Amino acid sequence: MQRYRHWINGHAIEPANGQWLDVFDPATGAVTAQVADGDAADIDAAVAAAQAAFPAWSSLPNSERARWLEKLADALEARMDAFAEAETRDSGKPIALARVIEIPRAVSNLRFFAHAATQFSSESHHGEAGLNYTLRLPLGVVGCISPWNLPLYLFTWKIAPALAAGNTVVAKPSEVTPHSATLLAKLLIKIGFPPGVLNIVHGRGPGAGEAIVRHPDIKAISFTGSSAVGRRIAGIVAPMLKKFSLELGGKNATLVFADSDWHQNLDVLTRSAFQNSGQICLCGSRLLVERSIYDEFRSAFVERVQALRIGEPMDGTTQIGPLVSQAQYDKVLAAITRAKDEGGRVLCGGNAIDRPGWFVQPTVIEGLGPECATNREEIFGPVVTLQAFDDDAEALALANASDYGLSASVFTRDLVRAHRLAAGLRVGMVWINTWLMRDLRTPFGGNGQSGHGREGGMEAMRFFTEPRNVGIQL
Ligand code: NAP
Repeated sequence: MQRYRHWINGHAIEPANGQWLDVFDPATGAVTAQVADGDAADIDAAVAAAQAAFPAWSSLPNSERARWLEKLADALEARMDAFAEAETRDSGKPIALARVIEIPRAVSNLRFFAHAATQFSSESHHGEAGLNYTLRLPLGVVGCISPWNLPLYLFTWKIAPALAAGNTVVAKPSEVTPHSATLLAKLLIKIGFPPGVLNIVHGRGPGAGEAIVRHPDIKAISFTGSSAVGRRIAGIVAPMLKKFSLELGGKNATLVFADSDWHQNLDVLTRSAFQNSGQICLCGSRLLVERSIYDEFRSAFVERVQALRIGEPMDGTTQIGPLVSQAQYDKVLAAITRAKDEGGRVLCGGNAIDRPGWFVQPTVIEGLGPECATNREEIFGPVVTLQAFDDDAEALALANASDYGLSASVFTRDLVRAHRLAAGLRVGMVWINTWLMRDLRTPFGGNGQSGHGREGGMEAMRFFTEPRNVGIQL
């Protein structure tokens, strides 16, 4: 059986404790591989390697660091299909999604931050007290922890700016989906990447993950995952006065007004709820619909959801695959049972699918108000609720009735309303007449239980550097 080892100081390394975890195929439930179950000893080794590599890496000209990231992007692009297949086998996501969106996006992340390395600049101030300029210095060794839902896409979204800014990295992918990061390590050998600059340690959150968070020589933590773990990490790093960025959960609203082109947008609306089986932090899990079109919208939407092609994730025509794990499957089914207990009416779906693997039907529920747990807690699965509203004020109140604040989408043809709502929605990102439209230069992140800080573009470059002001008496 294949075993995914750590990648430390340019070598594939067995876990110091000799422990391994099973990796499963979500489409069958079968064990496909094993992954190192790392712990603090492996993190210590990775930090030592990263510290040793820091002086040389941080002193390279920016254009040299950019060249390494471009080389890695080229190597990844040349093996796109192998990476897409690895990602689909690990996570159960439809291969078309991995091929067309997620692996290409990982390539774009590497290229984007290669460019950022050469374009990043800092401020200077004069005309008041001499001349001041700001140095933006790399932090040293940084920790990057990413989840299973968009494995390589989010892994590269963190490591690329960290490396571009001159840091060396200890990164942990989710133990549930370790394959693509392991393949990336093989590309590092292929392109002759300097050892110790990027170290990949596998293992569970409480073991390897928390050892990264607690390590005194890791200067910053960039974490993407659940709000519960984000809160725990903040509790550990805040007293250590360590820099941290948290990208956490969401319970996003999609507002559909009667004047919108909603018929033409049914595909986008369906994707916004069910892409990757709803396992995307940005999925719109609360659909708010103007009452005058509610009945007509409900019928058309449910019909579209029932037409989604559920099946074997390696089949290029599949739109909905299984959930990622037994734990996620149990959690989503429990949430559907809770929705029924709360008085929700299931309009379609509502059950597991009778086949091997962790498949759950795309589910649409109505009849629940903003106070229900179903509409307040992140489910992170193929479950969406419908609520009706009468006017803009009620739409805004329903959308904002959440402890999360990640993203929202507004479908309307009224420009004034669109701008007014964009200003009133308590979220980090608003899309008008679309969903998940990404420009890598824009700030990415959320408020409240959705996170702390922003990633993306120069925000990420600023996070991974420390400003130092230099004042000169003229
Ligand atoms: P998770 O359980 O919080 O895990 C995320 C990562 O943290 C994994 O690598 C996990 O390792 C690790 N981890 C777990 N406990 C840890 C600890 N005590 N200390 C350090 N690391 C720890 O989240 P998930 O279930 O993988 O991902 C789903 C969540 O991520 C959802 O809430 C989703 O909304 C959120 N998410 C947010 C964004 C965003 O940009 N805002 C993007 C994607 C996903 P193991 O998996 O190996 O245990």
